[in-house]
Amino acid sequence: PPLDEVIAGLAVDVPDFPEPGVVFRDLTPVFADGPAFRRMVEGLAAPSFVDPRAAAVAHTDDGPSGDPGFDVVVGVEARGFLLAAAVALHTGVGVVPVRKAGKLPRARIAADYALEYGTATIEMHTDSLRPGQRVLLVDDVLATGGTLAAAVALVEQLGGVVTAVSVVIELAALGGRQRVAPHAVHTLWTT
Ligand code: IMP
Repeated sequence: PPLDEVIAGLAVDVPDFPEPGVVFRDLTPVFADGPAFRRMVEGLAAPSFVDPRAAAVAHTDDGPSGDPGFDVVVGVEARGFLLAAAVALHTGVGVVPVRKAGKLPRARIAADYALEYGTATIEMHTDSLRPGQRVLLVDDVLATGGTLAAAVALVEQLGGVVTAVSVVIELAALGGRQRVAPHAVHTLWTT
């Protein structure tokens, strides 16, 4: 079956989590299924496009033969870590974490973003990207887009060039794609 059907079949909708009125899409059963996880990782690693501005940037790394279009994978804590590390291994590039505030030990930059109630902060080490390095940004779910928009801001502040953003699920009704624009979002299942 097509990958979107596989994901839809394994993902579990959890009503009223983390708060009443919210339906949480739980992807852990997709992660736990070997063939589904492999297809998901392969799909995230092969965005169907790259940002044309980013593709024009010179390739600075000695990558594997066959340029994947990015030099490093950046993953967002915490479920994004499970995916980003696998995508990086699959592609033969390195992986860099975007962490929740207070976790990174060395010099770092921070970005605040709005949650439904209050704000959250994510951080990156200042030396985690080289200027011009091409980045594939990975997370599990695109909801309002606040998280990925903040992650894009951090990557760009470090001089990284976002060539693609890959997510497993896009919750289209929440308009996250517009928050991440002009970067296009590659999604395995839009719902
Ligand atoms: P956003 O910032 O509103 O786009 O929310 C995206 C972030 O919240 C991602 O890091 C997701 O892991 C998490 N998230 C939001 N909604 C869901 C969901 O329904 N299932 C799993 N994770 C979610």
